[in-house]
Amino acid sequence: MMEAIDGEQISRVREVLRDAGRVVVLTGAGISTDSGIPDFRGPNGVWTKNPAAEKASNITHYLNEPEVRQAAWQNRLTTPAWTAEPNRGHAAIVELERQGRLHAIVTQNIDGLHQKAGNDPAKVIEVHGTVWFTRCWECEDRRPMEQALARVRAGDVDPACLECGGILKSDTISFGQSLIPEVIDRAMRVSDECDVMLAVGSTLSVYPAANCVPRANAGGADVIIVNGDETNMDRYATHLLQGSIGDIVPAIVAPAT
Ligand SMILES: [Zn+2]
Repeated sequence: MMEAIDGEQISRVREVLRDAGRVVVLTGAGISTDSGIPDFRGPNGVWTKNPAAEKASNITHYLNEPEVRQAAWQNRLTTPAWTAEPNRGHAAIVELERQGRLHAIVTQNIDGLHQKAGNDPAKVIEVHGTVWFTRCWECEDRRPMEQALARVRAGDVDPACLECGGILKSDTISFGQSLIPEVIDRAMRVSDECDVMLAVGSTLSVYPAANCVPRANAGGADVIIVNGDETNMDRYATHLLQGSIGDIVPAIVAPAT
């Protein structure tokens, strides 16, 4: 149930964050919706409005059907991430880093908005990859996405790897594709190491990313969950804040006055 956020609760959580030395922030789609990045399955979601995009997100279809890849490249030309700007929620996490409290960001988002907001890219662990790079399916060559998009705009409907001729895709984790073990290991390790886990805008229902929360809890960390709605991990929360992410996150990381 949605409850009004009272000032006293905000003050308590602000104190928890002020006392923290190593905060891990776990972010999901909810932090980026204010930046105009649609989620995948909601009423305005990418897949709801464009079933072809759902097909392109399945690795088997993508690898085996040239027309699926061609449609995917056309969609990539207009991906909302290219023009999206970080919002107040992202800015608040930059402030947390400025205060010297940010251990790492584990994000389920592929939009690159934490880096664009000003967080140190070395602190951002992208468990589902990023749309800002391409990856060759054969040789794993990784390059800025813009290089491939320029080729598509110049008329190449399905640009191949410049190293080996293999199939290129965005450097994201498609359905049916394995996660990167080193990336997941790092996400779990920082969760073990943190003294506060701040989960923002995630339903905490997608694994293994959601496991960061019980890992942090098992290590004795405070768990702060900020989301517009209930999550699957609310039982682990020491502080549960339901409401507007853009209002709550800046309020709880505000510097001491
Ligand atoms: Zn290649």
